[in-house]
Amino acid sequence: MPAHHVLADLRELAERTSTPEGAQRLAWGPVWRDARLWFAAKVAELGLRVTTDAAGNNWVLLPGGGPETVIIGGHLDSVPNGGWLDGALGVTVGLEALRMFATRRPPVSIAVVDWADEEGARFGRSLLGSSAASGSLKVEDIRGLVDRDGTRLVDALSENGVDVDRMLDAHAALKNISARGYLELHIEQGPVLEKMNRSTGVVLGTFGVERHMIRFVGQAAHSGSTPIAMRRDAFLAAAQTALECREIARRHSTPDAGVVCTVGVVKAEPGIVTAVPGVCEISLDQRALNAEVLARMLADARTASEQAASANNVSVEWRDLWRIEPRLFDPRLLQLCEEAVREVTGDAPKLPSGPLHDAAEMVPHMPVVMMFAYSSNGLSHCKEEDTPEPHLLQTIDAFLRLVEKTVDLSA
Ligand SMILES: [Zn+2]
Repeated sequence: MPAHHVLADLRELAERTSTPEGAQRLAWGPVWRDARLWFAAKVAELGLRVTTDAAGNNWVLLPGGGPETVIIGGHLDSVPNGGWLDGALGVTVGLEALRMFATRRPPVSIAVVDWADEEGARFGRSLLGSSAASGSLKVEDIRGLVDRDGTRLVDALSENGVDVDRMLDAHAALKNISARGYLELHIEQGPVLEKMNRSTGVVLGTFGVERHMIRFVGQAAHSGSTPIAMRRDAFLAAAQTALECREIARRHSTPDAGVVCTVGVVKAEPGIVTAVPGVCEISLDQRALNAEVLARMLADARTASEQAASANNVSVEWRDLWRIEPRLFDPRLLQLCEEAVREVTGDAPKLPSGPLHDAAEMVPHMPVVMMFAYSSNGLSHCKEEDTPEPHLLQTIDAFLRLVEKTVDLSA
């Protein structure tokens, strides 16, 4: 039973690379390297071998009859004290796809890629290997990165055979592949499938993100002697904006296209119980799958912040932190994914991905689709991360069916 093989592999990997606190496969470190040795040994059992590209991504190629390649991706790295499925599910199901086709020459080549440093848990740069392969990585942005212990990223890379100045050679290598499609299976890391009581979901794309800091400046004043009407309270303007941002998310959400707004950072000054806050800075993170909706959400948030500022007699200033456009998956692969999920589970719920994934980096270069597995209590990046076994087995079956459909697709 193919799905049971994947389960056995996942358990073996977890056993080998976890502590009671969870998975410890931090990118570029010894446990991660050991996980990769484990993977290489599994691949060797099939008479195949792992090759590493210039960015440290590990590739396995099973040559097929035609010129095209179906790529299956995942990542063996984890956050510290991470879950057993995040990333590893994608790699082990890829391994099983190789097993399925190793004995019969597939009509197209099949490649499995274990992306390096998807999590960015050590140096703060997520999707490191896949962004090098996609060519979107700006080497200057990462050259100066240092981890908590003072180790430089460039040194950690070179310890693993990666030269930071040559990482983008991985992009040239990717461009040489005539990719029919990129498929990735991942745990949802959220509560949506659980809420629907569905084991498997079709992922429509990854959310676009707008991330900003909003700074309100009023006047710090004595809390006892300053009448309410005369205050210029920066915190209240921020609080009003935050509440309005929740309304913005509610207003722009539809039953099949939810959007989110989050105020995750609040800094008030002077931070004294007896002073009216004179300065308050909040973060705003907005996400949507539709670019126009995201733009309208941002415009609405700006208006809300200006209204709140004027209502509280304070000024407001915005500072951009980061943005990425939505990455929509391929309609044809989405259809195959939907068929596969429906055939195995009887239903095919569709949902966007809130987190970014390596798949998002592949969207500009080839047709892409992702499938999600049910996430118990919506938890991930922790040792409690899990998918109940029946749901996991069904999802693996559905994904392998998607692989077969994509391989068999007439070009
Ligand atoms: Zn992941």
